[in-house]
Amino acid sequence: MVKFYGKPVYKGIAVGPVVVLKNEDQKVKRRKVDRPEEEVAKVEQGVKTAQEQLQALYEKAVVEVGEASAAIFEVHQMMLEDEDYLDAIYNMIRAEQVNAEYAVAVTGDNFSEMFAGMDDDYMKARSADVKDISNRLVQCVSGNQDAGLNFKEPSIIVADDLSPSETVQMDKKKILAFVTVHGSANSHTSILARMMNIPALIGVPLDLDKIQSGMKAVVDGVQGEVVFEPNEFVCEEAERKIKKEQEKLQLLQELRGKENVTLSGRQVNVFANIGGIGDVGYALENDAGGVGLFRSEFLYLGRDNFPSEEEQFQAYRQVLQTMGEKKVIIRTLDIGADKQVDYFNLGKEDNPAMGYRAIRICLKQPDIFKTQLRALFRATVYGNLSIMYPMITSTEEVEKIYAIVEEVKEELRKEQITFKDPEQGIMIETPAAVMVSDKLAQMVDFFSVGTNDLTQYTLAIDRQNEKLDDFYNPHHEAILAMIQMITDNAHKHGKWAGICGELGADLELTETFVKMGIDELSVSPSMVLPLRKRIREIS
Ligand code: PEP
Ligand code: MG
Repeated sequence: MVKFYGKPVYKGIAVGPVVVLKNEDQKVKRRKVDRPEEEVAKVEQGVKTAQEQLQALYEKAVVEVGEASAAIFEVHQMMLEDEDYLDAIYNMIRAEQVNAEYAVAVTGDNFSEMFAGMDDDYMKARSADVKDISNRLVQCVSGNQDAGLNFKEPSIIVADDLSPSETVQMDKKKILAFVTVHGSANSHTSILARMMNIPALIGVPLDLDKIQSGMKAVVDGVQGEVVFEPNEFVCEEAERKIKKEQEKLQLLQELRGKENVTLSGRQVNVFANIGGIGDVGYALENDAGGVGLFRSEFLYLGRDNFPSEEEQFQAYRQVLQTMGEKKVIIRTLDIGADKQVDYFNLGKEDNPAMGYRAIRICLKQPDIFKTQLRALFRATVYGNLSIMYPMITSTEEVEKIYAIVEEVKEELRKEQITFKDPEQGIMIETPAAVMVSDKLAQMVDFFSVGTNDLTQYTLAIDRQNEKLDDFYNPHHEAILAMIQMITDNAHKHGKWAGICGELGADLELTETFVKMGIDELSVSPSMVLPLRKRIREIS
């Protein structure tokens, strides 16, 4: 039995088998070899295995999504036959006497960089494919195919760190808990864990080589500890705590159907944050009054190419129809910073949090933006949709957005596609937007405060940097003063103001927010009922 401590980001308890996920950098180490020809043979065998896997994937995809979409696997098969690529791997093994996995990984990186640097957009986009192929080949060569994201039974995921892309690809029903060595409490992976009600511990000082998949573990997200190979007593204690948690949740169920109203009669909307269609069930189960933030960028993560207009339209329509008359606020894509997607080819940035992300990408690459807007406007007739734009810093940006929106509406009219005019609002998550909120309020229908980024930009603290977690203080008086200013400016012009950052779920501040006049709080689904309970206690 061995115990470690970490920082809890979702306070739940879990007991179950461990799956250790190692990232590519950890898996692929350079080794000097005596018999390079054996390594060459390993690559040849690996290519055969990868070809078989791709053929099977192609056949499955043809049935499930049709021939056109399945073609990507054929392209991957062809790329795996490319002589330049294979020769580069073999040459490296022979010339440098290195192991097969290393030669595949390095050659993959070189080729992918080469594609990324090409002028032609089509060739640029192949950079992500090359990376994908070489990752597959590394796995086949090392015989490590089981360590993927598709594990069979519900498990506790142990990893060095997890990216939002990896997290969204996992089957949520099969995750009992997350335990990571690194990670920040404000990162999107932590936010996803909270959204999925999954016990999660970060900053756990583990040596991953000493933890094996299949070991049993207990994660206690309340105490902030994880125990590997627990004894009977620890397991029984954990089961008792799980039962107690369930009883608590049962008690909260009594609040279903009740109003979010203070003792003095002030009403506040309590909505849920979601990341995809799969979360709508959680929002409804927890009796959320609507969706206050649908992080639509999650539709773009964990895949090889842009989601088409039709795919997006179907996703938005399904969320709207499932929510019925309830309001659904969909935020346009907020890719960038910690939400990296290879096929966007964003390039390496020294300071991605302050870089090319969110609305900046949409305004610079309007084709991507227009595809999403077309899908959103087409979906307006299926429910109560509001559109929200992220990372706004100026009135000029809103003007530019509206110009593109007008073009999209004109296109749809010409194509005789019906749509309704949705409410359009913005996230207030930069200090600049706070300072011009008086003007912005005259241009939009609502504000929603993104306290995660607003805290990062106001306190000059990278929300991804785990070393700064102790300095990241969203209760800072500067942040609270800003929220008051935002609310006052919204109300001055007859608009509403909400909070959709994590601070909205901070029960210590609920009374403060109500006194400030906040109209809506959007929180992870599991926090809807605790927040309702808190609001109903305020006098
Ligand atoms: C925020 O910044 O508070 C927010 C809600 O957006 P995200 O966490 O997705 O950046
Ligand atoms: Mg944000």
